[in-house]
Amino acid sequence: MPTTVSLVRCLDYQEAAVHKKLKEVLDLIGGIQQFVAPGEKVLLKPNLCIGRPPEKCVNTHPLVIKSIVLLVKEAGATPLIGDSPQIGSAHSAADKSGIGDIAHDLGIDIVEFEPVTALNPDGKIFRTFTIGKIVKEVDKVINLPKLKTHALMLLTLAVKNMYGCIPGTRKAQWHVKTDKAGKGYFAQMMLDLNLLVKPALTLVDGVMAMEGMGPGFGDPRHLGLFIAGTDCVAVDRVIAEIVNVPPEHDPILRVAINKGYGVGQLEDIAVVGEKIQDVSVADFKLPQKEDMFDRIPTGLKRILKRHLTDQPVINQEKCEACEMCLKACPVDNVDMENGTLKIDEQGCIQCLCCVEICPHAAIDLVPGRLLRIYSTIRKLFGGG
Ligand code: SF4
Ligand code: SF4
Repeated sequence: MPTTVSLVRCLDYQEAAVHKKLKEVLDLIGGIQQFVAPGEKVLLKPNLCIGRPPEKCVNTHPLVIKSIVLLVKEAGATPLIGDSPQIGSAHSAADKSGIGDIAHDLGIDIVEFEPVTALNPDGKIFRTFTIGKIVKEVDKVINLPKLKTHALMLLTLAVKNMYGCIPGTRKAQWHVKTDKAGKGYFAQMMLDLNLLVKPALTLVDGVMAMEGMGPGFGDPRHLGLFIAGTDCVAVDRVIAEIVNVPPEHDPILRVAINKGYGVGQLEDIAVVGEKIQDVSVADFKLPQKEDMFDRIPTGLKRILKRHLTDQPVINQEKCEACEMCLKACPVDNVDMENGTLKIDEQGCIQCLCCVEICPHAAIDLVPGRLLRIYSTIRKLFGGG
């Protein structure tokens, strides 16, 4: 039986419209009461990766959270809000993102993720995770991602949003653990993590999305959409189609389809509400694409990686020496010398945690040496 993904247009974050359209997108897949029952404790897991205001489109919009809180309460369940930013607390990120005010006004708890070890018997490779204790304690998890680009993984949608269930700095450790095996292995880790958390429902905030150099400093992009479903891979597949990303270019979808996670084939997904072709955009801007890199065999790729991928370089004119990148780097590769922050190119595993965390957009991504040569050759021969 095909899985269902619903699409509903919502043109802006006007409160009444958000509530009406959000209810509509859920009603198309059975309504909130299909997913939560009276008396249940329900964790709402937004994208709350960095404390930035709603207009920056980094986090799930506070009015989307408000609306879901009201619907969960109406269904007789008790909502909680939780996420684990890379640095700092969920409370502090919530306060800066506007979600804190919503939680306060509605009397909802914001929970920090205390680490606990959880076995993942359904995982295909990764059978143990350290995740937030509350994730295991609640009856249901509702996944509330923001539709964004991601410099490392191309897009961050339903599957990737569950990565936030791993507490703070432990997220960065996964970059180290999976570094040698590449993005595919990192993607498989996230897909296995989804099998552990098993969100009951995913609702994606794509009203104002982020394009370009996401997830921290891309540009707001109006898509005017809510997307809902129960299968995270299916939700990601439909969104990829909408923003014109072939599944083989998206590391998570590529692995999901090849290894049989979720529903990744469009013909197996029943899309209800709007039609994909009526809401799709041809010009959604992605982070810089490593087209040559993707075609190189894995063994050689590992050797050449540093020269073929984008290198983070601190822009000294913008840097405010706040040291957040230094604290976020999972391999201690950022140093402070005489008051100046520096990234060691040799030791960098290109996880881009520093780029994501920098509050001043002071870390540029500079193409590796071979990529620069390749791009010059292409231009010389008219390849653009
Ligand atoms: S310097 Fe930045 S990109 Fe390189 S390993 Fe550290 S956090 Fe990751
Ligand atoms: S996080 Fe950004 S502003 Fe802060 S020290 Fe690093 S580069 Fe500079």
